[in-house]
This record gives sequence, structure tokens and C-alpha cells, in this order.
Amino acid sequence: MTDLATARSDRAGGTAAAVAEAADARLTAALRERGQRVTSQRLVIHRLLRELDRHVTADEVLRRAGERLPNVSLPTVYATLDLLTDLGLARRVSVGGPVLYDPRPDDHAHVRCRACGRIDDLDLTIDETAVIKAARAAGYAPEGAELVVEGLCPSCS
Ligand SMILES: [Zn+2]
Ligand SMILES: [Zn+2]
Repeated sequence: MTDLATARSDRAGGTAAAVAEAADARLTAALRERGQRVTSQRLVIHRLLRELDRHVTADEVLRRAGERLPNVSLPTVYATLDLLTDLGLARRVSVGGPVLYDPRPDDHAHVRCRACGRIDDLDLTIDETAVIKAARAAGYAPEGAELVVEGLCPSCS
């Protein structure tokens, strides 16, 4: 509840510094809870994801992180984004291209423009039980399912 309220006030026009501070506080608390180290790399990458506030690739995060973390490598960026995902602060999204990292960890679906590649959130919760069950029946060990709607966005249609 508190987290949602914080996220909302950030979007409603908190200064960049306030957003960064709130992001740092959340990550620090989540890392300490798991007994993990708080490093500047982790703080910067998490801040960046919050600042960009959209679905991004690890490559894009690496490009943006370059100025603040001159020696950071792509594998480190991936590892950090995966850690944020494990901590419940981000989400991995597969929409056919490279894996995207989503600053919104809550349940939602995605729509993707097949012409320009734009991706938007769809605010709904989908019961994945049936597809997971079908995958298990096919002999797979399913880890999750995701709905991605494809079509043309308003600018391309
Ligand atoms: Zn489009
Ligand atoms: Zn999303």
C-alpha cells in the first residue's frame, strides 16, 4: 500500500531528486531484507529504471548507465536487472524481441505494435492457470505465461 502511494506521488510531479531518493530507499530496504549488499551499481541501475519509467532492454540501460558507471559491463547490467526482478522491483517481459525489463512489477498484460515496436501496458489481471496446466500436460516445467496483444498502435494504424 505504502509502495503504491509512493510510486503515485513520484509520478505526480516529485522532483527527480525525490524520485531517486525514494527509489534508493526502496532498493536498500529490499536488499537488506535479503542480506544482500547495497552497491552503487545496484542503486544507479535501479534509479535509471525508475527514471526511464518504461520497458527497456539491458543494452539501453547499459548505454544510459555509462556516464554514471564508466566500467559497468552488459553481463553486470543483466545480473542487476535480474536481481531487481527477484526482489520484486521489476519484471522481465518477453514480447518476441530481446527481453525487456519493466519498472512495473505488478500483474498486467502488454500490447505491442508490430510496425514500430511500441509497447504499452494493459491494466488487467489474467488467470494463467489453464495455459500453465496445458504446458505441464505437454511435458514442460512451466515458469510463467504472459499475454502480449499484437497489432498496430494509434500512430501506425
Ligand atoms: Zn506503431
Ligand atoms: Zn509493463
